[in-house]
Formats: sequence, C-alpha cells, structure tokens
Amino acid sequence: MTKRAIAIFGGTFDPVHYGHLRAAAEVSEQLGVSDFRLLPAGQPPHRQGTWAEARHRMAMLELALAPHADLSVDDREVQRGGPSYMADTLASIRDEAGDLPVMLCLGQDAANHLDQWHEWRRLLDLAHLVVMTRPDAEPGYSESLAAHLEGRFVESPGSLMDRAAGCLCNVNVTRLAISSTDIRQQIAKGRNPRFLLPSTVLAYIRKHGLYHS
Ligand code: ATP
Repeated sequence: MTKRAIAIFGGTFDPVHYGHLRAAAEVSEQLGVSDFRLLPAGQPPHRQGTWAEARHRMAMLELALAPHADLSVDDREVQRGGPSYMADTLASIRDEAGDLPVMLCLGQDAANHLDQWHEWRRLLDLAHLVVMTRPDAEPGYSESLAAHLEGRFVESPGSLMDRAAGCLCNVNVTRLAISSTDIRQQIAKGRNPRFLLPSTVLAYIRKHGLYHS
C-alpha cells in the first residue's frame, strides 16, 4: 500500500542516467510513498554551471520517465530561474504538503557535503533525509554536520511516516558506478555511452548535439 507523503530526488541530471533511475526506483519502492518526484536544479549554486541548458535536462528527464507513471518530474526550480537553493525548494514543497511527511533523497556523496548547502540547518526542519548508497562514497560527515545529524537516524524507511520531517534514514540501493561526468566525457571523446542511460535520452543528446565539447 502506498503512503501519503512526498519524496523528492534532486540533482542536476546532466544527463539523467541509470544510476539515478535505478536508485529512484528502489528508494521509492522501499519508501512506498504515493508521490515520488525527480527535481532538476535550475542553476545549481555549488558549481559553475550546467553543461546542458535546463530545458534540455528537463526534456531528457521526461523522456526517461515517460514509461513510468509512478515517477514524475517537478520543474519548480527550472521555472523559478536563478540560483536554486534546496532550502527554498523544500519550503515551497512543505507549503504544498501541509503536515504530510516530505523526504529529500540524495546520494551519499551529496550527503557528505550537505553542510556546504545554503541554510543547510533548515533542511531537516522541512524534510526527512533519505541517504542512498553510491559506489566510492562512504559516509564522511564534518563535525558540525555529524552533530546536527546525531539522534536523528532511524533504521527503517517506514518510520519516516510517523513524523513530517527531521529524521535521517540510510537506504541501500544497487551500486551502479555510473556518473553524468563520465557520460559527458565519453561523448566528448566520441565514444558511445549506450547502456548507461536510456536509449531515448541518448538519441535526444545526439539530436541536439549536447556534450560534444
Ligand atoms: P555529475 O557527474 O555531473 O556530478 P552525477 O552523476 O553525480 O553528476 P547528479 O545529477 O549530480 O549526478 O546527482 C544527483 C543525485 O543523484 C545526487 O544525490 C547523487 O548522489 C545521486 N546519484 C547520482 N548518480 C548516482 C548513482 N550512480 N547511484 C546512486 N546515486 C546517484
């Protein structure tokens, strides 16, 4: 039975690949939530810029998710424009969710650097964190981040349904050592990254000449 809650999986998705998609499928199954969204960053504040424009990253996500009605795309950061701060995004999702649980899903590599995010202490006031395993990323938190997370860990994803926000759950997902960086580099070198991402997404990349330089 699906439970009423909103889960979001944020990222640049530049481009979306099977590492993202398999993690989304497994974590949404384990959480059993009614509403699971992949949320592309408009203009990520933590890096110089994206390689593909937001409209292309959105289009690739939509192609990847087209056969999967239970996973949707949330375009609020792309629509908002300007730098995308997750704290602001979660505040707007919290307005929509009322008292329902909200979960922010992210890979271990991203979780390790959470204290570099804008107003990071607000994140757990607004949502639970669901940290997914990723190859080559062991848990490694700074002292202030570890202190902030202390006492918030729950063993089972189901426990996140008891409260609206504030807990952290580690979730094991199949370790697929796929990254957008590697896919972009393969394309730039004229190699073929097939089977690392959906063929519809690869066809879109080719059609629009993305990631060639
Ligand atoms: P890049 O190589 O450009 O940094 P990326 O492949 O890490 O991109 P992002 O869009 O930056 O992809 O990642 C969005 C989220 O997805 C992050 O929380 C990241 O940890 C997670 N993620 C990305 N790839 C994987 C993977 N292979 N397995 C599990 N989680 C992943």
